[in-house]
Amino acid sequence: MRYISTRGAAPTLSFAEAMMTGLARDGGLYVPETVPQMAKAEIAALAGLPYEEVAFRVMRPFIGGAFTDEEFHGLIEKAYSGFGHAARAPLVELAANHFLLELFHGPTLAFKDFAMQIIGQMMQAQLAKTGERITIVGATSGDTGSAAIEAFRGLANVDVFILFPHGRVSEVQRRQMTTPAETNVHALALDGDFDDCQARLKDMFNDFAFRDGVRLAGVNSINWARVLAQVVYYFTAAVALGAPHRPVSFTVPTGNFGDIYAGHIARAMGLPIERLVIATNQNDILDRAMRSGVYETKGVAPSISPSMDIQVSSNFERALFDAYGRDGAAVAQLMGELKAGRFAISQGALQRLREEFGSGRASEDDTRATIAATLVATGELLCPHSAVGVKVASEHLSEVPMITLATAHPAKFPDAVETATGIRPALPPRMADLFQRPERVTRVPNDLAALEALVRARKGA
Ligand SMILES: *Cc1c(COP(=O)(O)O)cnc(C)c1O
Repeated sequence: MRYISTRGAAPTLSFAEAMMTGLARDGGLYVPETVPQMAKAEIAALAGLPYEEVAFRVMRPFIGGAFTDEEFHGLIEKAYSGFGHAARAPLVELAANHFLLELFHGPTLAFKDFAMQIIGQMMQAQLAKTGERITIVGATSGDTGSAAIEAFRGLANVDVFILFPHGRVSEVQRRQMTTPAETNVHALALDGDFDDCQARLKDMFNDFAFRDGVRLAGVNSINWARVLAQVVYYFTAAVALGAPHRPVSFTVPTGNFGDIYAGHIARAMGLPIERLVIATNQNDILDRAMRSGVYETKGVAPSISPSMDIQVSSNFERALFDAYGRDGAAVAQLMGELKAGRFAISQGALQRLREEFGSGRASEDDTRATIAATLVATGELLCPHSAVGVKVASEHLSEVPMITLATAHPAKFPDAVETATGIRPALPPRMADLFQRPERVTRVPNDLAALEALVRARKGA
């Protein structure tokens, strides 16, 4: 299994290489050369299996020779052993034909743990083989950072630096990043928004001298291994509701398009998914692009669902690559145009995107109203991101079962939930002392040279 860049001008890589590399050297994202297929009987055979076994069967064809089957089984077992629910990703019924997939039972209470825990295991195993020492730099709108720190804290051959937008993450999110005491963990509060964090991270990857000097590795949602890990729960959820014998639809609260792109891969593998619905908050570039065919950045307006406060949706590039018939040169041209703020999607590509993806947006008022109404109707307390999903899903219900992804635990966003319902959700007991732990954080300017100097200094390189 080889991986190719969406911009068509970087070397093809193995799974392990693509995982360790993150961003391709031509600025593109890695995707599998071909998507492995699962036959109907193989999908049917997943029914009733433990999450870990489904994870093995779904991911195995993508990893090539990176690990033996025995090794890979072991890594998967370790990755999900710290989850606070035996089903890992339980499904609950919200209303007739509308289900919620709870993806927030991992160690940092957001769906990011599903990918980060296994990528942590796989990177560690890979480094143990090569004896390398790497630097992980991640940009976060809140949840990726804590999930990455949780996965890499205390590891001998990894330093982890996390850039988050100063003042724009929730207090629980910030404390999850600033309270780990391990000296290989560096939380950096950047003066800017999430798109600035993501842009500086891309700049570091495009500075090849720096990248090679510190052995930079990326764990942002552009990393193919993260997308792959997220494909698994589309299978467990769909099979639980009768796939492959009947189709299901999904609605996915989206920022960087990583989670929903995993659904696109599940469908490409043969899972019968009818609709994949993009749900955005007021930062609605993806919904606007789907409606108008013009992808145009407008600046981020901070919302109560901060993990989706994004205007440059990195993984959308992967969907464009497929919609343009895997024409890397065409994608490179669009991404060049985007530097000036916008590009128009061709008619053919737009039609293909619309065949596969629906879309919708939720305003701040919609989000709060959905949290309140869902609590009354079902007893389920939604986080604001999940509420964006439930609101948009409610506009796309049909006779096909709809599964909305619940991406974070309500206790990660207690202020928004309390405003909407009057109830302040409590942290699970294992995190109850989060507000007593001392914080460690460095404020950094939105400046590439300063950031690179800081990383080098901390590493003594
Ligand atoms: C990251 C995140 C999202 C958006 O996921 P993408 O893969 O970036 O689309 C939604 N909700 C929460 C809680 C998140 O942490």
